[in-house]
Amino acid sequence: MSWCVPCLVSIDTLQELCRKEKLTCKSIGITKRNLTNYEVEYLCDYKVAKGVEYYLVKWKGWPESTNTWEPLRNLRCPQLLQQFSDDKSTYLSQERKRKGVTSKDNKKSLQPAVAEYVVQKAKQRIALQRWQDYLNRRKNHKGMIFVENTVDLEGPPSDFYYINEYRPAPGISLNSEATFGCSCTDCFFEKCCPAEAGVVLAYNKNQQIKIQPGTPIYECNSRCRCGPDCPNRIVQKGTQYSLCIFRTSNGCGWGVKTLVKIKRMSFVMEYVGEVITSEEAERRGQFYDNKGITYLFDLDYESDEFTVDAARYGNVSHFVNHSCDPNLQVFSVFIDNLDTRLPRIALFSTRTIKAGEELTFDYQMKGSGEFSSDSLDHSPAKKRVRTQCKCGAETCRGYLN
Ligand SMILES: [Zn+2]
Ligand SMILES: [Zn+2]
Ligand SMILES: [Zn+2]
Ligand SMILES: [Zn+2]
Repeated sequence: MSWCVPCLVSIDTLQELCRKEKLTCKSIGITKRNLTNYEVEYLCDYKVAKGVEYYLVKWKGWPESTNTWEPLRNLRCPQLLQQFSDDKSTYLSQERKRKGVTSKDNKKSLQPAVAEYVVQKAKQRIALQRWQDYLNRRKNHKGMIFVENTVDLEGPPSDFYYINEYRPAPGISLNSEATFGCSCTDCFFEKCCPAEAGVVLAYNKNQQIKIQPGTPIYECNSRCRCGPDCPNRIVQKGTQYSLCIFRTSNGCGWGVKTLVKIKRMSFVMEYVGEVITSEEAERRGQFYDNKGITYLFDLDYESDEFTVDAARYGNVSHFVNHSCDPNLQVFSVFIDNLDTRLPRIALFSTRTIKAGEELTFDYQMKGSGEFSSDSLDHSPAKKRVRTQCKCGAETCRGYLN
């Protein structure tokens, strides 16, 4: 088990130490190149003096107090110059929308507000890149995670920790040792793990889910004799698609979109978080605002003892928005842990999802439309929310419940 302690020293100080000791450190931006040479990190301001154009340069690995004005002819950073110009235009067009007027652009210097915005944007870009690197270091599945905000100045969430699997609260045990394993030579055709649990195999030969929502998935586990290519091992292999956490432009905060096409009925991601008792969820719910409450997911597949809280600990699913007309559907999954009070939650596509489309699921989704009327409702999970819905679907219910 590895432990992480947050570093209390600022990045500026760490960079200074590195330079003093002539050490390189990629994660704080000190490379061989900028240890001996100066490298532009971003551009902060612009002015014209005696007919010469100057940019205020923030040097990579150096504190802001050492920024210097450099003539344009000395700068070899076309991308950063383009970025600077794009950010300036964005600010001016936003201001035009806000005030209805274009403020006069003094050709000799930038308005302080414009320079301030360009710097904030540059810092945000660096912070989001650093967060994206963190997410990709932590995740243990194949698909990459990208981060993008072209909408506002929001940076990475301050109190969110990436996890790959459930994090049980003290006192809750997730039996990671399966009690039964199959000995099939071909799990697709033989009486395999699902049959042992009294259900059918969940997948077809194309790795698509073929069972009704509300029916549990029993995958092969560590006790089974089959190998990693068994057709009954899908959720356990993790997300295969490259996804992007992006800032929505309709006021829904962060959302998740797929960067590649997803076939219908395919496994997309698992919903993970802290596993807590329902009493604890009740208690936390009192303290959470509406947003916090939407991260509580009751595991009411067969009992209502436990809840998943993805508010502080979670994976990409933490950022997936609700929709009343979603393209993902929730299923309960049992792999090594066969305790029916503690299913894992997997999200599968309900239809083909195009590259670039936002992923959504119904926070109030019942496991099945057919069985949900009687008390033996095998809903895998439901979120407890009382908040207005902005999903924009034609069938929008107006509220999340
Ligand atoms: Zn089998
Ligand atoms: Zn198998
Ligand atoms: Zn098996
Ligand atoms: Zn809605």
